[in-house]
Amino acid sequence: MSLAQCPVFIGGEWQNINSVQTSPVFNPSLGEVIAEAPMCTADHVNAAVDAAAEAFPAWWETPPTERARALFRFKMLLEENFEEIVQCNTREHGKTLVESRGDVRRGIEMIEFACGIPSLLMGESLENVARGIDCDTIRQPLGVCVGITPFNFPAMVPLWMYPVAIACGNTFVLKPSEKVPLTAIKIVKLLDQAGLPKGVLNIVHGGRECVDSLLTHPKVKAVSFVGSTPIAKYIFEVGTRQGKRVQSNGGAKNFVFLMPDADVENSVRGLVEAAYGCAGERCMAGSTAVVIGDAAKTVLPALVTAAKSIKVGRTDVEAQPNMGPLITGPHRDRVAQLIEAGAKEGAKIATDGRAVKVDEAPNGFFLGATILDEVREGMTVAKEEIFGPVLNVMRFEDLDSAIEIANRSPYGNGASIFTRSGKAAREFKHRIQCGMVGINIGVPASMAWFPFNGWNQSFFGDLHMQGKEGVQFFTQQKVTTTRWFSFGEGDIWHRESK
Ligand code: NAD
Repeated sequence: MSLAQCPVFIGGEWQNINSVQTSPVFNPSLGEVIAEAPMCTADHVNAAVDAAAEAFPAWWETPPTERARALFRFKMLLEENFEEIVQCNTREHGKTLVESRGDVRRGIEMIEFACGIPSLLMGESLENVARGIDCDTIRQPLGVCVGITPFNFPAMVPLWMYPVAIACGNTFVLKPSEKVPLTAIKIVKLLDQAGLPKGVLNIVHGGRECVDSLLTHPKVKAVSFVGSTPIAKYIFEVGTRQGKRVQSNGGAKNFVFLMPDADVENSVRGLVEAAYGCAGERCMAGSTAVVIGDAAKTVLPALVTAAKSIKVGRTDVEAQPNMGPLITGPHRDRVAQLIEAGAKEGAKIATDGRAVKVDEAPNGFFLGATILDEVREGMTVAKEEIFGPVLNVMRFEDLDSAIEIANRSPYGNGASIFTRSGKAAREFKHRIQCGMVGINIGVPASMAWFPFNGWNQSFFGDLHMQGKEGVQFFTQQKVTTTRWFSFGEGDIWHRESK
């Protein structure tokens, strides 16, 4: 089978680069290489940034209404090609078709948000800040912005960044994950088809060399990053040291609290979806069930039964399983090793996904749903982001002690509570130390109109992606203070000529 092309897009030209090292892109369901992503060098980055810098002045002068119209066309093209993008996403990532539809839909919502840019860019004004003096603000673009994205949401995460950035009048260079570049390319081809001027959006591929060249390029004004915490921190530190504006989302470990009064059916459904959706490869995965008091008797047995019933299989076919493979073989092996480490450190394996076999795809990167019970603070599995289909269970006597432990986590993306008590939910919402809270919702990921609101080591920066903060990140404000004189009044030449 021939490999899929993985071109760069620079200054409006799609080009295949054959002269550099490459990184394999897999179909994780089969464990087969389907493309080779080129590892771009500083030369490619320079060309892409130059193209973006050249396109910037004319794009800035393009009225926001016209910029929005390009995005409306882009959205329509995405709707028309929706299923094709979904198939591509599933093929290179491995998530189920239903999950891919969610990935693409959340991305389209970002474009819908960005289509409102004429209203979103409006400034403020105040008449008579002093007698006869008025003051107003306008928002202007920054220039060339860059986006560096992870493997786990090939459609949505790049779309968190560039629709808003270009709607604000910036130009952009995207560096998608080298593990899943094909969906990003497919989507940008539609933006190209929507009639975006040359150079407004560019794509390069690669790893550290490519990222470092983007991060330190003198013409780059702002960097948006999503990925693991160590790299997010590195990007923030290097980028800000270079004087750039940086928003950098990191990893997470999210807690799902189960109160003794929680509705069993709804909470088990919410928890299973939170822990095993996208095979646990989500920064908002509910990776720890915090079981309080008698919830251990009511919810836990049903949870173990539900986890055991999850069907794992290849996702690149019509008959869909409940859960697909992990992204690569080494990642699957790392997660399996973490399960082993959990057991060695005293956790009880309530159900073990390592035994799973998918006969029709023996080389796929599969791991079944796993539950580690009696996990305690300090264990490796309690500290590390596992990023796989493994749910830790921690047991507590009461809500207070559970909140105390959860608040010691270095991360701070999301936390949820399942309860029938308004008082418990209110207490939880008030005291839990994270930026996205769910009440009877397993995955409280905020949608396009609200900030994607990580705290602590899950986010480095001041302005989050999505919502109004996204618009603020991609613009700088100008404040103008104005006084007008009567004709001749205060005119120094006029007075001198008297
Ligand atoms: P990753 O950190 O390995 O890679 C992310 C990006 O950084 C990729 O484009 C990659 O090419 C680049 N990169 C990797 N190593 C680098 C290095 N040494 N120097 C410079 N650049 C480098 O992350 P991943 O494995 O692709 O994605 C999974 C991680 O992303 C998880 O930790 C997950 O929690 C996190 N994530 C966070 C959010 C959020 O909003 N907080 C959303 C999605 C994923």
